[in-house]
Amino acid sequence: MRPTTVAVIGAGWAGCAAAVALTRAGAKVTLYEATRTAGGRARRIDYQGHTLDNGQHILLGAYRESLRLMQQVGLQPSQLLMRLPLQMRYPDNEEGMDLLAPRLPAPLHLVMGVLRAKGLSLADKLSLARFSSAARWMGWQLNQDCTVAELLARFDQTDRLIKLMWRPLCIAALNTPPERASAKVFLAVLRDSLGARRAASDMLLPRTDLSTLFPDAAISWLQKQGGTVMMGHRVNSIHADDAGWTISSEQRSDHYQHVVIATAPMHAQTLLKDTDHALSESLSFDYEAITTCYLQYAPTVRLPAPMLALIDDPESQRWGQFVFDRGQLDDKQAGLLAVVISASGTAKGNAERTKEVAGLSPELAGLSQELVGLASAKIKQTQQTTVQSLEAAVAQQLAHDLRLPELATPVWSKAITEKRATFACVPDMQRPSTATTHPGLWLAGDYTESDYPATIEGAVRSGVKVAADILGSAVSA
Ligand SMILES: Cc1cc2nc3c(=O)[nH]c(=O)nc-3n(C[C@H](O)[C@H](O)[C@H](O)COP(=O)(O)OP(=O)(O)OC[C@H]3O[C@@H](n4cnc5c(N)ncnc54)[C@H](O)[C@@H]3O)c2cc1C
Repeated sequence: MRPTTVAVIGAGWAGCAAAVALTRAGAKVTLYEATRTAGGRARRIDYQGHTLDNGQHILLGAYRESLRLMQQVGLQPSQLLMRLPLQMRYPDNEEGMDLLAPRLPAPLHLVMGVLRAKGLSLADKLSLARFSSAARWMGWQLNQDCTVAELLARFDQTDRLIKLMWRPLCIAALNTPPERASAKVFLAVLRDSLGARRAASDMLLPRTDLSTLFPDAAISWLQKQGGTVMMGHRVNSIHADDAGWTISSEQRSDHYQHVVIATAPMHAQTLLKDTDHALSESLSFDYEAITTCYLQYAPTVRLPAPMLALIDDPESQRWGQFVFDRGQLDDKQAGLLAVVISASGTAKGNAERTKEVAGLSPELAGLSQELVGLASAKIKQTQQTTVQSLEAAVAQQLAHDLRLPELATPVWSKAITEKRATFACVPDMQRPSTATTHPGLWLAGDYTESDYPATIEGAVRSGVKVAADILGSAVSA
């Protein structure tokens, strides 16, 4: 029998997972990627000779499929990821808390972690215990979705616990603030972390760049197995033909029995426009941004832990929510701190406002050339100050919270914002299935039907699922 031919569009984590799973099952796969770097929204970037990522990521022990696929393409997750026990640790000052789950079997690890936690009152601890036991009793499920804020209010959570634990957890996991985030999805994340085996609740920090962590190895593995990988090939259109699909990029057109669109939803919309307008329209999501602020200090700078939570308060220009000491993960990055701002629309708004100011310049056209010149110079200056001020504000926040004045003046800094990092994970979202109504046309990606938010694991699971769907359909045909 001739092998099933499949085109996978997009070498993000979903596309790479689908391509690996299909190839393992004997399909003949061609992977198209528009850019020159694999990994999509979890990828390496080069900045002035420094290897960074498009954003600091964190994985969980519960990321079963991601860890399995990493092994399948010859990687050793234990070497590439630092495994930390479940924790929510703030810098050692009077404002925060320190919760570190000991290495005991679940749920003892959580019980002991909460009992020993510093910075929480008895009322906070009881409130946390009440929430965990009620959620466990409910099977971490809700019949009717609501916002996370409503869920927390329903379980009488204390203000301090919400501020120090639930809010940061919700924003980190769902990239959506509790006032707008889906309680159902939040509970699913908690089920696979707080409610699962101890190892599942571990936090895994990448020691390498994100492309090396899986996509690059997946591509090498695919090529060794006879698969075709076309980097720098943006697919412009897909068309159904007699017995499958024609995929056209600027460089070529080819025919396949199946096509998997494994791009982010907005790019899937473009590819689907001519084939299925309604499906394309149904992928119109709202998005949330994530900003990662990289700050380089002297190599001797070291935080008390590889990862710390920070108290964010946009009112007082404290944007940072978590800080990662990259030097503790990779010797080559000694002194590099990565500060994450999830759901970073407000922080980004700062920079956007200056662009609006710059947009006023044509109105000055009536003034004399000299005045226009002066005004534009002033506008440019304001723009630079505000754009830089996000990094400067984060550096100030670190210096203050960690009581290390030298952190106010990094050697260099770089803020990277992914404007459409993830879909806004709101209640009752309608997410599409991996199967479409068109034979041989499939979707994969972090946005497809799942009880997970937009995550690496959600993307990988959808890739694995689409491969099983295709192979199932080939058997039944
Ligand atoms: C800054 C940031 C921080 C995050 N933090 C975390 C975290 O801590 N933990 C976590 O689990 N998740 C995190 N996420 C989410 C996670 O990165 C994503 O959910 C996941 O990477 C999505 O993978 P994907 O394969 O579904 O899509 P994508 O990564 O978007 O991959 C799609 C690929 O398709 C390619 N493509 C698009 N159009 C075409 C075309 N026409 N032809 C060919 N190729 C095309 C793109 O170039 C891209 O490579 C974060 C995301 C961001 C942006």
